Amino acid sequence: MRDSNCIFCKISGGEIPSKTIYEDEEFRVILDISPATKGHALILPKEHYANIYEMPEETAGHAMILAKKLAKHMTEALQCDGLNIMQNNGEAAGQTVFHYHMHLIPRYEQDGNADKLCWNHLELSQEELEEIHQKLSL
Ligand code: 5GP
Ligand code: ZN
Repeated sequence: MRDSNCIFCKISGGEIPSKTIYEDEEFRVILDISPATKGHALILPKEHYANIYEMPEETAGHAMILAKKLAKHMTEALQCDGLNIMQNNGEAAGQTVFHYHMHLIPRYEQDGNADKLCWNHLELSQEELEEIHQKLSL
């Protein structure tokens, strides 16, 4: 299913042109229009899923296999020093485009983003930690 109001549906379907670095039946991989670093790319499924919760497990698996292949390719082609793989779900998590996408962000020594792609650390009590452990244990 495509969503006619979704920009990433239009881009992944080729209706809006993009700087595509890879394409197959299931995905299009494009350069981010407002990159964190040189080479910042986005893996877009061609089907519309707002987020990881909506996406079938099989597609999620394929996206990760593709990310693995691209990580190697991008690191060799760009000679970057590292690479972040990020994927935001929901406004609270920083998602701004509500069509699933995985960020591939090449990292370079001194790229000026060291303080941005990280978070503050909480100091939890043993009780709080235990409560969370209980909630999350499958
Ligand atoms: P989010 O914050 O939802 O995880 O990431 C959305 C990303 O999509 C941002 O990094 C933003 O720069 C990128 N983006 C938004 N609109 C467009 C667009 O029209 N074309 C491309 N190539 N990237 C876009
Ligand atoms: Zn879409």
